[in-house]
Amino acid sequence: MGKTVGIDLGTTNSVVAVMEGGEPVVISTSEGSRTCPSVVAFKQNGERLVGVTAKRQAVVNPDNTIYSIKRFMGHTLNEVGAESSKISYKVRTGKNGQAVAFVPALDKELTPEEVSAMILQKLKADAEAYLGETVDQAVITVPAYFNDAQRTATKNAGEIAGLKVLRIINEPTAASLAYGLDKKANETILVFDLGGGTFDVSVLDVGEGVFEVRSTAGDSHLGGDDFDNKIVDWLAAEFKKDQGVDLTKDRAAVQRLREAGERAKIELSSQMSTQINLPYITAVDNEPKHLDLTLTRAKFEELTSDLMERVKKPFFQAIEDAKLKATDINEIILVGGSTRMPQVQELVKNLTGKEPNRSVNPDEVVAIGAAIQAGVLGGEVKNIVLLDVTPLSLGVETQGGIFDKVIDRNTTIPTKKSRIYTTAADNQPEVEIHILQGERPMARDNKSLGRFHLGGIPPAPARVPQIEVTFDIDANGILNVAAQEKGTGQKQAITITGSGNLNRDEIERMVREAEMNADQDRQIQELAELKNKADALASQTEKTLKDAGDKVDEATRQSATEKIEAVRKAVQNGTEVEIREAFNALEQLSHSIAEKLYAQAGEQGAPAQEGPQEGDVIDAEFKEEK
Ligand code: AMP
Repeated sequence: MGKTVGIDLGTTNSVVAVMEGGEPVVISTSEGSRTCPSVVAFKQNGERLVGVTAKRQAVVNPDNTIYSIKRFMGHTLNEVGAESSKISYKVRTGKNGQAVAFVPALDKELTPEEVSAMILQKLKADAEAYLGETVDQAVITVPAYFNDAQRTATKNAGEIAGLKVLRIINEPTAASLAYGLDKKANETILVFDLGGGTFDVSVLDVGEGVFEVRSTAGDSHLGGDDFDNKIVDWLAAEFKKDQGVDLTKDRAAVQRLREAGERAKIELSSQMSTQINLPYITAVDNEPKHLDLTLTRAKFEELTSDLMERVKKPFFQAIEDAKLKATDINEIILVGGSTRMPQVQELVKNLTGKEPNRSVNPDEVVAIGAAIQAGVLGGEVKNIVLLDVTPLSLGVETQGGIFDKVIDRNTTIPTKKSRIYTTAADNQPEVEIHILQGERPMARDNKSLGRFHLGGIPPAPARVPQIEVTFDIDANGILNVAAQEKGTGQKQAITITGSGNLNRDEIERMVREAEMNADQDRQIQELAELKNKADALASQTEKTLKDAGDKVDEATRQSATEKIEAVRKAVQNGTEVEIREAFNALEQLSHSIAEKLYAQAGEQGAPAQEGPQEGDVIDAEFKEEK
């Protein structure tokens, strides 16, 4: 088996890292840089370029240069809408309705998965060259808000690139891992991720190896590029003022301005002013014109003040959604190259009243976290036990349509839990194990994940067989459910892979609905439980009468039979009050019968008992199959 790497597959840049000697190491590209532009291009002869070589020729080959493909992952053209019009290459609707990129040089459409796979292939090849061995497995990161389709698309991209994707993890979780926050006791952390084209803020609860994303907010159209563009606009305006020439009409000049703008921005992160010098930027009447301007940090901050205002909104949104105050945040992690700008760091400090954690390089922190996760899965990293929690409770449907939880929401995985169930009817030959996920007490309100039958239960009175149901979730979130009848050892099992695949909205909706319906749900649940109890009492009393034979006098037997009938009728179509009354009446009588029988037994020796004994733990019953 080859090596496992961690990959940050970013919108603008991607990074690959690996565990070496117990430490995460960022792998340089074959061109010698630690980040790889997420750009794929095709020359007219069809030759493929990936990374910095693709980025460099973008200006002369815009139609065949694919960038920001992550924005289209797992999306239809409709969903991305306006996005596609701002892109220099053509985006169309592909065969299965998905957005695809059209490449004229190949006369072919490429799916976002295929383009992403080409980036992943380069990272894989660079990692193999560095390590001198095959790399065939990876942990890949995605934004916390990515839905199921986007996560699946990312996973597919990995598989196309020849990588077995061991796990898809959230970028903010990876960032927290890289800071080693898993080792600390409970903390609330804020991950502030300002990259090249996108901005995300996430609030996480971290403690004892468990990461839970409490909220995420962002602006998918805010990033370093916007800061570059502000410089481009300023340079063009100044040049026009000086020379009377509008550079924005000249595509090649704009590209040079953009590159110079980004360089200037980066320099201003460590210097108070920078010189922008672009000789021969254009020519007027064959006379070359040069651009030479000085930009101060103060001027840059003035030019970009509206962008800084936009940064505040998602920040407050994330804090509010997490139901916190800014001062409740224990730790702030900066992710993305754009958080190197002093004004961004200053803003974060002002908003939270805390110094952001700067111990890991913001460009590399997500890939490093992914590498650590890869190390955990590969057994190299030992002190981190688990990294994920079940987003919703898991359980089975029992008699009366009640949802019986086996594993509670937010349980850390891997985990394994068992509960004992029984039958609801006499001689019930089989039970159905219906597996569900959700927070509502009634099965029908939750999400069904699968079902199977366990047959071959030997004839026995109701509530006697013991069926042990075991839920086992492994580190990849894959759920195994097994059921075993303890008397015969008869066993059945099922594997469910999709239990962790709910998107954020779906999880939030299910939790919210559970809170909203709590009162009504409780009433429905109590009624279902009352019916179960009443049914059980009717069957038990019936059995007692049969077993007791002539030890019960005829008048009592008659009265009991009537009361059993009344209970069954009430359960069928009575109100809650009617069921309760019928139940109470039968319970009283059955107690008095039992007392008499015990009194007689005291004279003749104890009656033999069958069925569940005191001390047996039965959690619930499975309904009879009709
Ligand atoms: P990322 O998507 O995280 O790779 O971030 C890329 C963005 O970070 C680009 O817009 C870069 O221009 C920007 N960036 C990288 N280094 C710096 C720096 N030192 N100061 C300001 N911006 C930077």
